[in-house]
Amino acid sequence: MDGFINFEKFRFDIDMDNGYNNFITEELILSPLYKKIKDFPKSILEMLPIENLKLELYCNKCRNKRIYTFATIGLDYYTIEMGPSFVSNQSSVSIGYEKMMKENQYFYCIAKADCGHNLIILFKIIDENTIMKVGQSPSIYDMNEEINNKTFLRELEKEYASYYKTACSLNSFNSNIGAMTYLRRIFEKLLLDCFDENSSEITLSKEDFTKLKMSEKLDNLRKFLPQIIFENGYNQVYSKVSDGIHNLSEEECAHLFIPLRMAIEEILIEKIELKEKKSRQEKLGKELQNI
Ligand SMILES: [Zn+2]
Repeated sequence: MDGFINFEKFRFDIDMDNGYNNFITEELILSPLYKKIKDFPKSILEMLPIENLKLELYCNKCRNKRIYTFATIGLDYYTIEMGPSFVSNQSSVSIGYEKMMKENQYFYCIAKADCGHNLIILFKIIDENTIMKVGQSPSIYDMNEEINNKTFLRELEKEYASYYKTACSLNSFNSNIGAMTYLRRIFEKLLLDCFDENSSEITLSKEDFTKLKMSEKLDNLRKFLPQIIFENGYNQVYSKVSDGIHNLSEEECAHLFIPLRMAIEEILIEKIELKEKKSRQEKLGKELQNI
């Protein structure tokens, strides 16, 4: 990934005395790694370390917004100890603060939320006015409330739920070929799950089913999937996705992203609705037996 992130709205500044901060923001936390952030005034670094800055952010472990208190936003330097220290003090190599200022320099943010969970972000200083976020835990996907709070994600296995989150994040950064690759995997998996759940009613073997083109798989599963995903226009989506995402442009993938994402969501939401209907009917059945 290359290019710049443009925080046009911002003039980076932190004024702790007046409780003013437009540098450490939710937008910064949700911005991707390894993109250069321009117009960063080095004067912020002169104010480091900064402590006790508070920010409301999403915690995926608690599935809720929490207040994060930044314990430290600081510059750091490191010391590399080489060789057994008993040989000689000469074997220690120190890279001190001064050298770090001239060469690759980093700074970091460590925050603790009121729920007890932590956040750490590492930045690299590229030049006088440019920095780059080079590390973050939890990831930008886990810090994104909108992506994580979707109930239907619980219908996906953990691995596929994380594909969905990655796809949405990539889409939001305009990396749509990548985003579509993840969506396609999820969609293929849902078709296979649907085959497994209904295999007794399908005349094909699983081996033959997996060899089919996407549109042919859908034809075989038409009875078991939400009808909306067979509406006009979807055929074109499936044939383009099926032909190979690597042949499509970023722009084409951007157009296909929303319909395919919605097809996935429709399938998952219908699954939940069917489960709920089944459990309601079972409950009713038991009530009726007691009459
Ligand atoms: Zn938490």
